[in-house]
Amino acid sequence: MPVLPALFVSHGSPMIALEDGRARRFLASYAGEFPRPRAILIASAHWETAAPCLTASAAPPTIHDFGGFPEALYRMRYPAPGEPALAQRAANLLRDAGFAAALDPARGLDHGAWIPLQLLYPAADIPVVQLSLQSHLGAAHHHAMGVALQPLRDEGVLVIGSGSASHNLTALDRRAGDTATPPPWVDAFDQWVADKVAAADTAALLAWQDEAPYADQNHPSAEHFLPLFVALGAGAPDAPGARIHHSHTYGALSMDAYRFS
Ligand code: ZN
Repeated sequence: MPVLPALFVSHGSPMIALEDGRARRFLASYAGEFPRPRAILIASAHWETAAPCLTASAAPPTIHDFGGFPEALYRMRYPAPGEPALAQRAANLLRDAGFAAALDPARGLDHGAWIPLQLLYPAADIPVVQLSLQSHLGAAHHHAMGVALQPLRDEGVLVIGSGSASHNLTALDRRAGDTATPPPWVDAFDQWVADKVAAADTAALLAWQDEAPYADQNHPSAEHFLPLFVALGAGAPDAPGARIHHSHTYGALSMDAYRFS
C-alpha cells in the first residue's frame, strides 16, 4: 500500500465552496499529486473538545456551522461515509501515546472538514473520520497527536490538518480578491513558516508564538494554526516539508498549504 503524505490546508471562507479563486483551483486539482487514499483523517479548527475526540458515525452528517451566507451553502451536503473502525484505530493509537481519546458516535463533519474535502474529493466516496482539537493545549500537544497517528499513513490513510495559515478576521478587506498584495505582517509570517517547514525546523515551529514575526497579529487565537501541527507530526520525522500553495484572499487571509511526507 502506498504511503500517503500529510497535508495542511487553509480552508478560507465558506464561500470557497461557491466562488472561483486560486486556493479553490489548487484544492480542486491537488488530489492528483499523490495516490488515492483508502480513508481520510482530518483535524479541523472548528471542533474543539477537552480531550481528543474522533467521529465514529458510519454516516457523519454535514454540519453547516456558519451564519449569514447564501442559501446554496446550506443546501450543500458532503455524504462521504464514516469509518468507525478507523476512528477506533486512531483512538487506540492516541491512547497508546497517552491521550485520553474518545469516540463521538453522533458528531458530523464541520465546514473546516467538508468544504476542502468537497474540493479535493468531490465524489465523497472516501471514508472520513474527523479529529477534534484542544487549542488550550498548544502546538506541542497537536504535534504529539500527529506523531501518534503517523502509522495511519502506511495504512492508506490521508492525514489532513484544516485551518488557516493566517486568521485575523478583523484585518480582512472583504472587497479584496485573491490577487491583492497581503499586508507586510502577513507576508513576514507566511515566509517564516515556509522557511521553517522547508528547513524541517520543528523546534522553531513549535515555538511559533514566541519566534514567528507578528504571530499574535496573524493568529489572535491559535485554533486555526494548530491543525498544521497535527499534519507536521504525522509527516515523515525530520524530513523537510513543502509549501504547496501560496495565495491570499480578502487581503490578509493567507491560504497557504503544506505537504509533509
Ligand atoms: Zn475556519
